[in-house]
Amino acid sequence: MLEEYSRVYAKINLDVIHQNVENMYNAMPRGTNILAVVKTDGYGYGAVPISRMLMKEPYVWGFATATAEEAFELREAGVSKPILVLGYTFPYAYDRMLKENIRPTVFRYDMLKQLSERVKKRRALGGNEVFHVHVAVDCGMSRIGVRPDSDGEHFFKTAIETEGVEVEGIFTHFARADEADLSNAHESLKTFTQFINKVEQDTGYHIPFKHCSNSASIIDMPEAHMDMVRCGVTMYGMWPSEEVSKNKIEIKPALSLYSHISYIKDIPEGTPVSYGGTFVADRRMRIATIPVGYGDGYPRSLSGGRGFILIHGEKAKILGRVCMDQFMVDVTHIPNAKEGDRVILIGQDQGGFGDDSAPKITVEELGDLSGRFNYEFTCNLNHRVPRLYEREGRILKNSEL
Ligand SMILES: *Cc1c(COP(=O)(O)O)cnc(C)c1O
Repeated sequence: MLEEYSRVYAKINLDVIHQNVENMYNAMPRGTNILAVVKTDGYGYGAVPISRMLMKEPYVWGFATATAEEAFELREAGVSKPILVLGYTFPYAYDRMLKENIRPTVFRYDMLKQLSERVKKRRALGGNEVFHVHVAVDCGMSRIGVRPDSDGEHFFKTAIETEGVEVEGIFTHFARADEADLSNAHESLKTFTQFINKVEQDTGYHIPFKHCSNSASIIDMPEAHMDMVRCGVTMYGMWPSEEVSKNKIEIKPALSLYSHISYIKDIPEGTPVSYGGTFVADRRMRIATIPVGYGDGYPRSLSGGRGFILIHGEKAKILGRVCMDQFMVDVTHIPNAKEGDRVILIGQDQGGFGDDSAPKITVEELGDLSGRFNYEFTCNLNHRVPRLYEREGRILKNSEL
């Protein structure tokens, strides 16, 4: 391991991510396109290296981000496939989106109007681009999207008639596809399908891409695949919830988080540890300091013995509060622990994830212990944590990403 990553680093296994996506693709009917969701820097795993790897796969139609900036970053990195911004985009971004063929999601009339104006303005300057848009339909989230009623139908008609705007897709998002009881998701699917049938029949317009599936419904609702699925969390090897079927598609965790012990000392009985002295040694103890903290996105809520790390395959419990840049663990029972030893904050000791006999710490487990959702946990690992990318057993150089 390079010296400069001693303090902390996340290792992301690109082969595992690739295999996770392929396993999902293979479980779907031929011809189903994948829209790889890489918002929030790919759930913290790194949008650019992952997109650059996946753009080579014919079944990956394109990429989805939450914001225009995330889309621009991908274009700058040479990602040439379609990119859809899943949320609302504010007008300041339209000109650049038009030039870079980044797809906005539409559901507001003023947005259609503005998009059209930008196209006309660009035409006057000699440009010939149009906006490929996806219409968002609200079938149960009450977040973005037109309602699947006569107002929604009117919006759709306006969209297909708007000059400079081409309706390429239509989508909805399930609020409850990650539950054991899928009745609500089936209800949403039915509403969505009826809405699509209605607007296509009324207008005679064929919508090229209809999509509604997220990871949970890719796994448990094959009837919802339509033309394209939006694959997020499972790509990274995390489960959408504890209630989805875990035996239908094989996915593996792709991220490990490592640090090294920065200090070891023995403390006598009665010694307080960390801010507030919330932990006091009840006997003579050996403790290790780990140079990672909530300033890296490692949750402070793991304080007070809730969290643990792995040292030489043994669990070492967090003592007292997690600080911004450091925390302490109990190593009294790990006599061979010494300064400079590598420790595991997320991951598995030997053999990597998959060998179930080796001790491990999963994101799900730490998420539960810290009161964070697994999605949230990795999104919160911030830029102070360097990411290293592994492919075919080798750490890639920056120039290879
Ligand atoms: C985030 C997001 C997804 C991906 O969801 P996963 O559960 O991670 O697969 C799909 N669609 C929309 C609209 C999203 O916002």
